[in-house]
This record gives sequence, structure tokens and C-alpha cells, in this order.
Amino acid sequence: MQREFQFYIVPTPIGNMSDITLRAIEVLKEVDIIACEDTRTTQNILNHYNIHTKTISYHKYNEKSMVTDILSKLEAGKKIALVSDAGTPMICDPGSVLLKELKDNHIKVTSLPGACAVSTFLSQIPRDNEEFTFVGFFPKTKKLATNLILDYKKINLIFYESPNRILDTLDFIKSIRGNITVAIGRELSKLYEEVLVDDIESILKHFEEGIKGEIVCMLYSSTEKETSDVTDKINKLKNKGFKSKEISTILSALYDYNKNEIYKLSLN
Ligand code: SAM
Repeated sequence: MQREFQFYIVPTPIGNMSDITLRAIEVLKEVDIIACEDTRTTQNILNHYNIHTKTISYHKYNEKSMVTDILSKLEAGKKIALVSDAGTPMICDPGSVLLKELKDNHIKVTSLPGACAVSTFLSQIPRDNEEFTFVGFFPKTKKLATNLILDYKKINLIFYESPNRILDTLDFIKSIRGNITVAIGRELSKLYEEVLVDDIESILKHFEEGIKGEIVCMLYSSTEKETSDVTDKINKLKNKGFKSKEISTILSALYDYNKNEIYKLSLN
């Protein structure tokens, strides 16, 4: 049985201050406490909407220690809302530790619909099919990145990436999957919003002077005909008489590709 406490997950704007729902404002006004990723960031929104609710800090570095505190406040009858710096809590933002604990304690959680960079991006990107996989932030190590890119070749793959890394990341993706089509959403809902759908080389050319702002990216799923750099490399070595095991050893050593993935690919 779920217990009658009042805990809300409340999305906040991802750029444009007006992107907050009437219900979100009502809840933020009505609760006793707002648990914020950064109280100063959330205070800007609260000031804008004339909300005077008390804030406490709940971020990834105090997640574990704050759980008991939040639970006891709920037990004491306090109504609590969780917000992150921007967008929907739990989407690449803190909240999981607390939510697990609430669930374990059979405490009902009410989640409000609202702003989120992935859905804002996806709702304006043309796709041939509905399928997509969102993986949060793009992996930082080349091995994990290679696995991901190859494992999710057949599905539209969406990820967040920092502006400092996105151009290198696209270049790396090109080295594995070739000059595929990608979509980039930059600074969504903000003044300099930009959405591009093009092949990697054209995107890199477009941003040759550099790129700033917040980024969401989608790699379009591969068509059967698509030949990539990695398959070209495999085929060249095969034509020279190398065996799958040798090919995977050579390519993983030279390019940091995942050895097992290369082995599997070279068997086809
Ligand atoms: N919780 C947020 C959400 O609902 O989308 C995501 C938080 S995550 C820590 C921050 C990342 O989301 C940024 O680095 C960027 O990749 C993406 N992001 C957030 N706002 C964005 C925007 N306005 N335009 C494009 N990407 C955005």
C-alpha cells in the first residue's frame, strides 16, 4: 500500500523562462519545501514567478545523506517538490537515490510533465520510424563509445554532449560509422537555438569556427547499404588474407575499437 505523503517531481525551463506549466507553478507555491540541485539557480525561477517557498539543497554530492532528511520531513507531514537546475529531474539529473528510497518506503510520487531537452529535440526531428534510444551523456572513454556506436547502429541513437567535445565526438563517430546523417539541437528554446540535420562532414564544416551552448545529438539509424570506415578497414584486411581474430587485434590496437565488436563485425 502506498502512503499518503506529498512528493512531487517538477520540471523547470531548459532555457526559456516561460516554459513552465501552470501546475508546476501551483505545486512549487503550495509545497513546504523545494529540494533543488542548486538553490541559487532555482531561486531565479522562484523570484520570476513570485514563489516564496523554502529551498533546500539536493544534488549528486549529498544525494545519499539528504535522503534520510527528506524522508523524515515527509513523515512529519511536509509537502516536498524536487527540481533540478533545468528540465526534468532524473533525466541526467539527480533524483534516483531518493526515488528508490521513496519507492522502498511505499511513498507515492507525483511526477509533473514538462520541459526536457530530449523531448523538445525529438519532437522536431524528422524520422522514418518511432524508435530511438536515449543514452544520457555520450561515454567519455573510446572503448565504451565504440561499443555504443556499434551496438546501436540499427536504431536512432540520442545523447547529450558538451560543446567542448561534440566536434571530436562527431569526428570519432565518422571514423566508425562513416559520414552518416546526424541531427544536432543546440540551445533549444533559447535565443540562439539551432537545429541541423545533415551528414557529419557538413555539420563539422558548419561549426568549423567552433560551437557553444547546450547540445543534444541524434545519430540516424543505419541503412543496410551504408558502408562505414570500420567495415572498409575490416574488408581491406580480409582481402589481404587476415583472419577475424587478427583483424580485431590489429584494429583495436590501432584505433582503440572494441576488440569483440570488431571480431563480431568481421565474421559477417
Ligand atoms: N534534466 C535535463 C533535461 O530534462 O533535459 C538535462 C540535464 S543534463 C545535466 C544537461 C544537458 O542537457 C546539457 O549538457 C545538454 O546536453 C542538454 N540540454 C539541456 N538544456 C538544453 C537545451 N536548451 N538545448 C540543448 N540541449 C540541452
